[in-house]
Amino acid sequence: MPRIPFSSPDIGEEEIQAVVSTLRSGWVTTGPETARFEEEFARRFGDEVEAIAVNSATAGLHLALEACGVGPGDEVIVPAWTFTATAEVVRYLGATPVIADVTADSLNIDIDKVLSAVTARTRAIIPVHFAGLSVDVRALRTALGGEISIIEDAAHALPSEKDGVAVGSCLYSDATVFSFYANKTMTTGEGGMITTRRGNLAKRARVMRLHGIDRDVFDRYSSTRPSWAYDVIAPGYKYNLTDSASAMGRVQLRRIDQMQQRREEISNLYFDAFSSTDLTLPRRAERGEKHSWHLFVLRLPKRIERDTFIERLSERGVGSSVHFIPLHLHSYWRSLVGVDGDAFPVSSSEFKKAVSIPLFSKMTDSQVNDVISNVTELLA
Ligand SMILES: *Cc1c(COP(=O)(O)O)cnc(C)c1O
Repeated sequence: MPRIPFSSPDIGEEEIQAVVSTLRSGWVTTGPETARFEEEFARRFGDEVEAIAVNSATAGLHLALEACGVGPGDEVIVPAWTFTATAEVVRYLGATPVIADVTADSLNIDIDKVLSAVTARTRAIIPVHFAGLSVDVRALRTALGGEISIIEDAAHALPSEKDGVAVGSCLYSDATVFSFYANKTMTTGEGGMITTRRGNLAKRARVMRLHGIDRDVFDRYSSTRPSWAYDVIAPGYKYNLTDSASAMGRVQLRRIDQMQQRREEISNLYFDAFSSTDLTLPRRAERGEKHSWHLFVLRLPKRIERDTFIERLSERGVGSSVHFIPLHLHSYWRSLVGVDGDAFPVSSSEFKKAVSIPLFSKMTDSQVNDVISNVTELLA
């Protein structure tokens, strides 16, 4: 473990107590805590939004695509600059991911590239709000029209806003999917949440989340139907979230805005410290936007070799990472998509310069200063 880790979950006594009392309650799988977690989560996005808890964002993306009817022969557009989960769920359904490049300033999907990737087979698109900076989903909807499903990958984007509207409100998309993985802006260890305004999508996702059964386990034990009775209407999955995870999630959710404020504070310290260097800094939130600051991605000047920089930081006890190795540089996606020459030049060239430095809500000012002085010294 480095002196300053790249990331560390922000878990306090309240989360621990919430999990302990769930364990003592005798109900540990999906039940009342998960129902409350879903209600509280959905409430952030308005009365018409439903939330469906799942055991990972990957599961949530899979369920959302399935509910949109994506299947063999379909194409789904994904950004080159993302984690493999965004594309793998397309393969789960026998469909084909079509990669589109990103813009250099935001590292978010380039809408012009999306439009040139659209074919008669395009069924859906999964924009990723990279690092917590929102994609303009309204512009995407306008450009694509109403036929193509939009599933937002918001694994980094809690809480983020665009035009004063929270990511997850689904005003222009079919569904949004959040991650509660260990290093995300809030965590349940593993976990995720789908939000949607489409009642039929929510219903399908709930059924497919639990074996294709028409009612969930808790419901089975609390409604008036006999407890043993259920009907399987499709070959579903096992993607439900446990009550112990949900209990932790409810506490994290209450703290999410305060945790975001601390991450924003840290990012401001980084901007102050690095603005006079030759580093390329991330794009900041503009008017009407909120940046979750899940990640702070530096892009190094050409004179500095990225891998060596990471090694030197690590020798000095500072953790760092790279987000992301673009999809087309992984052997599976490369051979599947049949990458020809440098098909995604922005992602390929930005990848060589990118390094994510520590940013987590528990970071102390002294740790932030420590990162700043080490980065500055390595630039000298
Ligand atoms: C972390 C991540 C995911 C997957 O989240 P899980 O909850 O671990 O399944 C998906 N997309 C992006 C962009 C991510 O960073």
